[in-house]
Amino acid sequence: MTIAEIFNNLNYGPAPEAAELAQAWLEAHQGSFGIYIGGEFRASHSGGQFETDCPATGEPLAKIALGGPEDVDAAVKAARAAQPNWESLGGHGRAKVLYALARQVQKHSRLLAVLETLDNGKPIRETRDIDVPLVARHFYHHAGWAQIFETEFSGYRPVGVCGQIIPWNFPLLMLAWKIAPALAAGNTVVLKPAEFTSLTALCFAELCDAAGVPPGVVNIVTGEGETGRLIVEHPGIDKIAFTGSTEVGRLIRKATAGTGKKLSLELGGKSPFIVFEDADLDSAVEGLVDAIWFNQGQVCCAGSRLLVQESCAERFLSKLKDRMATLRMGDPLDKAVDIGAIIAPVQLERIAGLVEQSRNEGAEVYQAPCEIPARGWFYPPTLLSNVSPASTAAQVEIFGPVLAAMTFRTPAEAVALANNTVYGLAASVWSENLSLALDVAGQVKSGTVWVNSTNLFDAASGFGGYRESGFGREGGSEGLLEYLVFDRLGSSPRKPAPKPSKREPTSPPGIDRTYKLYIGGKQVRPDQGFSLEVVGSSGRRLGEVSRANRKDVRNAVEAARNAQPGWAAQTGHARAQVLYYLAENLSARGAQFAELLAAMSGSGFADGEREVGLCVERLFECAAWADKYDGRVHGTAFRGITYTLNEPVGVIAATCPDGPGLLPLVATLGVCMAMGNACVVAPSETTPLAAAEFIQVLETSDVPAGVVNLLTGLQSELRKTLAEHDGVDAMWHFGDAEGGRQVELLSVGNLKQTWLGPSKSHDWSERPWSASKEFLRHATQVKNVWAPLGE
Ligand code: NAP
Ligand code: MG
Repeated sequence: MTIAEIFNNLNYGPAPEAAELAQAWLEAHQGSFGIYIGGEFRASHSGGQFETDCPATGEPLAKIALGGPEDVDAAVKAARAAQPNWESLGGHGRAKVLYALARQVQKHSRLLAVLETLDNGKPIRETRDIDVPLVARHFYHHAGWAQIFETEFSGYRPVGVCGQIIPWNFPLLMLAWKIAPALAAGNTVVLKPAEFTSLTALCFAELCDAAGVPPGVVNIVTGEGETGRLIVEHPGIDKIAFTGSTEVGRLIRKATAGTGKKLSLELGGKSPFIVFEDADLDSAVEGLVDAIWFNQGQVCCAGSRLLVQESCAERFLSKLKDRMATLRMGDPLDKAVDIGAIIAPVQLERIAGLVEQSRNEGAEVYQAPCEIPARGWFYPPTLLSNVSPASTAAQVEIFGPVLAAMTFRTPAEAVALANNTVYGLAASVWSENLSLALDVAGQVKSGTVWVNSTNLFDAASGFGGYRESGFGREGGSEGLLEYLVFDRLGSSPRKPAPKPSKREPTSPPGIDRTYKLYIGGKQVRPDQGFSLEVVGSSGRRLGEVSRANRKDVRNAVEAARNAQPGWAAQTGHARAQVLYYLAENLSARGAQFAELLAAMSGSGFADGEREVGLCVERLFECAAWADKYDGRVHGTAFRGITYTLNEPVGVIAATCPDGPGLLPLVATLGVCMAMGNACVVAPSETTPLAAAEFIQVLETSDVPAGVVNLLTGLQSELRKTLAEHDGVDAMWHFGDAEGGRQVELLSVGNLKQTWLGPSKSHDWSERPWSASKEFLRHATQVKNVWAPLGE
């Protein structure tokens, strides 16, 4: 044999990782596992069990307790009992425990990696080099947050008992993403792993004991979908954190609506992988292999849609096919295997079915010439080309090793195609022209964008979705906030109130007027011409406001949608100038507003004057933040920059509470404007005159048409249309609990973000306004951009 022949035939020999350690661990438990509650393992109340299998062999691995209502209840009770002490342990105390957990994970990394590969079927290369190290990193990072908790999160408190439900694709990593922030913030948890993959969660429970996690702080209830539902619906739970399908996410949104439970949803995706002609095509091919064949494509942020520039498409696809031919599929415990097994037969059938459907819809199917192992559940890496943008292959999350390829000609077309799905989890952009890549990164609607890279994760950078990929983030300070509630008692010291003026109202407020609506920069009569009488505290008729109906709402939302992109494109500095101008014009007419407020509330001119003063202060504060609420650059464990953009949410609708007639309106529109949103606001239903009068201030302050729209009327009518409207990206409700429940329930269509914000007068009238950060946060959504440096 010549040396050339040896080189050509350099075949891989088997390089299996030893499974003994994990086998011994399974045997030590006699292949049977209980539920972990209050620091102890116990059988399920019903005695029921289910089996977990090894996807690479189809063989059973162990029997796991099936959690039912009694078990969930016991776990919630244990978590509740443990929470106060865990919180009062303080930041440093919790940091020490989280640090110990990180160390435990590192010390047992080999056991965890092998166990994960056995139970899930993913290659050991991935569990060993990616999943488990990221788990340890997550606990380290959150030990740090716990340490600085009191100073960095002053004013916030833990939400309480958290129900956490995770999928099977990254069993231990998703557990870490859930448990680390919850514990750092002082919460206790009840976590349900996915039915297919409970083993590493149970092993983790043992590590909790070893790390000195107090009993009841972490509870693991194994079970099926029904067990998850029981957790979601348990009244003793304060927050649900869910990762899984959009379908189940929708059910959970519905089930938690109006219950007061905090919610974060990390759902599905159909993420674009965009390759420009000037990209380094060989690197892009490697990136794509990682994007779509990492974890057999069973990745929520998988780059499952290849968008490649037409001019280089043929060359790129041919390189890709060459690379596909070198992928090795087989025993996931083999260290030289790239592609492991699919989680279960049901998923295998679903993948195969979707590929067949795509073929019937005209897609060309190319599959890597891999040898398919005789046993276990395997599916070869697959490339679908000749795919049209509306077809199944381009729209449906396949959640398997299947790539759909499409072409584009211009950057604008690439962006349009990229955004042409209901999802918005991640995107990858490839070009050697960094300014082009960063420009495209800014236009793609997704929670993460990777530039010339893919699948980069780190605890310092929040991960989560836009649109139907869910809401909330995991990682970073934004991830920690998902486990906290704002508590005004923890706020900063107050300034003295301004000195009230001696003046009392000299005359009743002006001539009786009928105020119009304010839509698209114009004062308009309501669609049906109806109005509502406003009666002052003295019982005297003060005037009339228009009663907006569904059609007026739609016009207002349309005006806001049209105006928002242009407004967002202005600089923060330019937006601040408009806000300062609003403050100036309001101040100039302060006495008139104070009189109107006093007549409505009956509490005197001085109170009215004070409210106007606070409105002016708010507008100044919003103007100040407009160019200062900036993103950050994260310290990820990665050579490059990972930066956060605080982007506007889009169109925000809000309903103001009864009580102060102007302050909630001004605070709301101020913060929306500051962050580049357009808004549709319904002022207080009972005291709307000052708000209606404020239209005149808006008209004279250079506010672009459509950026602010005001609709007076009956909130019960307006709320429904706004909450259901697909053109509204977020809805804020400041008011009664029933209204809040409706908002959450009706928002399920486009899964708009909802916020049941402050409803009491004093929440608005504090000085300084300690809630301002909360408003800023709700007026923005975080996008993380990853850009490597150098070669
Ligand atoms: P899934 O069916 O939604 O299951 C997720 C979890 O929810 C499992 O623990 C499941 O339990 C449980 N569950 C099922 N029905 C439930 C119900 N009615 N109430 C409460 N819990 C319920 O999703 P999957 O098929 O396991 O996972 C794949 C999906 O997760 C994909 O769509 C993927 O994109 C998404 N994902 C998203 C992210 C992200 O960060 N955005 C990360 C990973 C995965 P059982 O397993 O016992 O049925
Ligand atoms: Mg399994």
